[in-house]
Formats: sequence, C-alpha cells, structure tokens
Amino acid sequence: MLFDIITIFPHFFDSCLKDGVVQRAIEADILKVRAFNLRDFTVDRHRTTDDRPFGGGEGMVMKPEPIYKALNVLKEESPEARVILMSPRGRLFDQALAGELAQFQRLILICGRYEGVDERIREHCVDLELSVGNYVLSGGEIAALVVIDAVSRLIGGVLGGESSAEKDSFSDGLLEFPQYTRPRVFNDWEVPELLLSGDHAKIAKWRREQSLGLTYEKRPELLDSAQLNKKDIEYLRSLGWRKD
Ligand code: SAH
Repeated sequence: MLFDIITIFPHFFDSCLKDGVVQRAIEADILKVRAFNLRDFTVDRHRTTDDRPFGGGEGMVMKPEPIYKALNVLKEESPEARVILMSPRGRLFDQALAGELAQFQRLILICGRYEGVDERIREHCVDLELSVGNYVLSGGEIAALVVIDAVSRLIGGVLGGESSAEKDSFSDGLLEFPQYTRPRVFNDWEVPELLLSGDHAKIAKWRREQSLGLTYEKRPELLDSAQLNKKDIEYLRSLGWRKD
C-alpha cells in the first residue's frame, strides 16, 4: 500500500516512520510512505503556499494552485488514487474507516496548515475529508500519521500474527480485555489466577466478559453497534445493561 503525503513539512514524517510496526512494513515492502514538499509545486519565485483570506480576517489560507499541481502529478502516476483532505470538519476517523481505507492500494493525504486549505480544493479534488477527532490541530501532519499507523496495521502481513488486529479494541465494537505479563506477582499485585490455569475455554470466557464489562463501564454507547451473541447479551444484562 502506498501513502503519498502533501505537506509543507515533509521532514515531519522522517522519525515517526523509523520505528516499530510501520517501519517493519516499509522494510518488507508491504507499505510505502512518500512525503512531498508542497513548495516543490509552487509557481512563483518565493515558493508561496499560502495567502491572506478573501473577505479579511485572521491568519493565512493555503493556496489552491500548488496543491492542485501536486495532485495532478501524483494522479498521473495512478489515476485511481483516493484523495483525502485532513480536516476537523471531516468524517470522524474510527476503526471501521481504517478498515475501509486499508482496502485501497494508494491514498493521497493533503495536510493543511494555518486556517486551512482553499475551499475549491475540497470541492473539486477531494474524495474524502477526514477528521481524527473533535479538536483542532495546528496542521494535518499528526492527523496523517494517525491514519497511516492505524490503517497500516490492518494490511495483511504488517502485524506479526495475522489475527492480532482482529482482537484489538473496536474490531468487533468492544474494548479489549486487560492484558498481563510476567512477573506473576509485582509489588504484591497479582495477576488474575484464572489466566495461569491453562484452561483455554475459561480464559476465553473471562476475556469476553472483561471486554463486555469494560465496554459497558467506559464506553456504553459502543454496545449499540457491537457484534453481540445471546450469551454476551445475557452477561451484559446481569451487569445492569438495558438496551433501549
Ligand atoms: N480554521 C480551521 C482549522 C485549521 S487547522 C477550522 O477551524 O476548521 C489547520 C489544519 O490542520 C487543517 O487544515 C487540517 O489539515 C489540520 N487539522 C486540524 N485539526 C484536525 C483534525 N481534528 N483532524 C484532521 N486534520 C486536522
């Protein structure tokens, strides 16, 4: 899978892609990330990427021409590439959207700065506006990294065990159960005895119930769209959950 990023800060991405799962995927040629400097697509002597807003007001707005030019160059290479604009007004990024995006071979991410990007780019060149949360960042770069990280771990072969992503929080609409590792006792804090029993059926049941319980306690609204079977519903009812 290929991510092309359009940004005025291409070096922003250097260190973040150098470690962990994403770096291994890049080395294994499963994933490629290219950051393009928007200034390389400017048309004037000063390499201008932003200008004052029409109608007045604070701040600067990113000019349409350099972004348009960059998109044309990238689209010429692969016309099927999807264009995503990072924007606090966009569709809220979640695990389901990460799964949808992981189906594409190639995504182009536009990172805004200042007051954002000239509206005509969104209107004419963008397939999806995407927000990583209901807050305003100073630029789209961190948002793009969130998307790259969450989407890459869903591409086949990126995570060690193929199934690890399937068991993560949100994949079936629930939060993940608590995890423990050695030592068995630390500062008098013990690991739940059942996890040491070797009884896989009991452990699976405990984990499911923990997932259900945690989701009910911390994010009850997730239960409305989670994949629940009869036993799950019974267990949740025993905790006091009432589906309306
Ligand atoms: N004036 C704009 C905010 C611009 S923030 C407004 O009020 O809506 C500058 C840039 O940061 C945006 O163009 C966008 O690319 C990025 N950005 C900020 N918050 C974001 C978020 N929650 N999700 C995705 N991108 C975001």
